[in-house]
Amino acid sequence: MKTANYVFRGRKKDGSIIYVEVFGSRITYRGKPAVIGTLIDITERIKTQKELEKAHEKLKIAYEELRTLDEMKNNILANLSHELRTPITIASNAIELMKEAKDEETRNKLYEMAKRAIHREYLVVEDLLEASKLRSIDEEKLNFEMFDLNALVELVVEELKYLANEKGIKIHFDLDENLPKINADAPKISRAIRNLLLNAIKFNKENGLIKIKTRKKEKFVEISISDSGVGIPDDKKHRIFEPFYQVDSSIRRKYGGIGIGLFVVRKIVDAHKGKIKVESKLGEGSTFRILLPINSKA
Ligand code: ADP
Repeated sequence: MKTANYVFRGRKKDGSIIYVEVFGSRITYRGKPAVIGTLIDITERIKTQKELEKAHEKLKIAYEELRTLDEMKNNILANLSHELRTPITIASNAIELMKEAKDEETRNKLYEMAKRAIHREYLVVEDLLEASKLRSIDEEKLNFEMFDLNALVELVVEELKYLANEKGIKIHFDLDENLPKINADAPKISRAIRNLLLNAIKFNKENGLIKIKTRKKEKFVEISISDSGVGIPDDKKHRIFEPFYQVDSSIRRKYGGIGIGLFVVRKIVDAHKGKIKVESKLGEGSTFRILLPINSKA
């Protein structure tokens, strides 16, 4: 006896889909060939099967996401260790060499090298500490004081000028002489400007240009920092303020850093009820603009 089974898809009177499995066997009935068959409604079984397939698909996506997250975590840890280890290596090598240095000039150069490496280490560690504190920063935690933003900008530039010089980058000032003093947390604003300036140097080209501009805009003061660097792809712009996000976070990436500088900037600006904006053209450069209320407390 030969049996065969088929699955038919049909539509019921109410419009719903029904799946029917038919088992048919050829037999001889009263001397004549005939077919005997069984019909089973397998709609539920098919539905469950499809749900299982969907769940399986979702699981595959979740697994891929987890793998990406795991890769990200590994990259973050590798980059972080690199950023912390490099300055220590440079500083300790310089100190070692200082012992053998014969002349004053070499000793001074090595001393400067060690000092800068330690400064770099300090910036990374400070950003890490700041980022962990900033997760919950709010207005209450700010220390307000009246200060001159132009003077603060000049101080930050003074601190980081050597990095710009190393790359032959020129810094051009366009500071509003009539800028009103602002009531804000000066060390935090200084940190925000420093982070933007560090990026404007890091992502700039050799012999590039940085323009720093301040202006009064109604109840705000605006500071903008423009660079002539690599720029940011349009589809990545919205992500650069996320903690640990980097346009290129691979271990073999060209630029150093751990991806929290802009997160720190955003948190500081938010706590002051300010605004941060970015404009960028790939391959041409970026402009970061911070708007701070003249009196954040008001
Ligand atoms: P980091 O500089 O340590 O990578 P940030 O949080 O400061 O971290 O910046 C996040 C990312 O945003 C950078 O890795 C880079 O991809 C992009 N970015 C920030 N500033 C600039 C800039 N001026 N030009 C080009 N890309 C930038």
